[in-house]
Amino acid sequence: MSEINNRRAAAAGKLSSERIDALLVSHLPNVRYLTGFTGSHAMLLLGRNSATLYTDPRYDLQASAQCDCPVRIAKGPLLTEVVKEIRRRRFRRVGIESERLSYQQGIEFRSALRRQAEIKPVAALVESLRAIKSASERKAIRAAVELNSKAFETVMRRFRPGMTERSLAAEIAFEMRNLGADGEAFPTIVASRAHSALPHAEPRGVRIQSGGFLLVDMGAALNGYASDMTRTMYVGHPGQRAKDLYAAVLEAQLAAIDAVKPGVPAASVDAAARAVLQRRGLGGYFRHSTGHGLGLEIHEMPRLGANCDTLLEPGMAVTIEPGAYVPGFGGVRIEDTVLVTGRGCEILTPTPKELVVLTV
Ligand code: ZN
Ligand code: ZN
Repeated sequence: MSEINNRRAAAAGKLSSERIDALLVSHLPNVRYLTGFTGSHAMLLLGRNSATLYTDPRYDLQASAQCDCPVRIAKGPLLTEVVKEIRRRRFRRVGIESERLSYQQGIEFRSALRRQAEIKPVAALVESLRAIKSASERKAIRAAVELNSKAFETVMRRFRPGMTERSLAAEIAFEMRNLGADGEAFPTIVASRAHSALPHAEPRGVRIQSGGFLLVDMGAALNGYASDMTRTMYVGHPGQRAKDLYAAVLEAQLAAIDAVKPGVPAASVDAAARAVLQRRGLGGYFRHSTGHGLGLEIHEMPRLGANCDTLLEPGMAVTIEPGAYVPGFGGVRIEDTVLVTGRGCEILTPTPKELVVLTV
């Protein structure tokens, strides 16, 4: 059996415990995971012993080439065809991905089904399978991470006075594509000086000037799989305050990486990073969670946050990215992608983490 076939079998195996005859998979990364289909419009009706992909005529050739399950091309709304199949197979209880299907689709689905079948909301059935990466997925993430680091190093070698945050972000996007990426996994963040205190800053058209941090958060998508890395550099001569801030975040990041082990709750990885920053008087400046899973999407299960009781398992790929953001001064975040192994974790990101000083 192919890997994708095995994934469908694993997902189908969870239908009985949800007490449903079939699951309507509408979230595209889940559809891709279970069929291999990469188009932008599709649904999968997954039964205990059946699977049918629905898409529109634009994807006729692509869907039959990519999928090893039956494909139906719908001339109208996909849900109309899905309902026909539910009637044909006499499914009585159909799960929907309640966090993924729109309210409108939910209403239409219910009215089309009438008394044929009952709809049951199901959360994260496919997403929880996706949290554990297979050998081929681990290889794909590793390749995306390596491409990411290569692009970063190539672009930073070309860093020159007069570059704006936007031009640096554009060069990063270009270089990732040039090295073979599908594209950016998310819009690259480039933030200089006080702007770096915004954890999700948008690059501006302003020149990168001396006298502050330069934060770059970037991800490549390669063969569908994402990488995610943040490095914070200093432009000019860092003073003691900047050096201390950087050292504290690096210490927090290393402590969190040390805490990554199978069987450990995700919250304790977050707690390890937070404890270091609190001890350094910076606890109030760390305002997001320590990391997240990644794979076909940039944010996946598990989340490494304060209240996350998910136990880490070998095969999970997660980011470790504590930060401290001081308004008016600047922010530091250091982010690697790591893989949970049988004993601890492997850091996939090869880019060094000492504070790099640039001159303009
Ligand atoms: Zn990131
Ligand atoms: Zn991230």
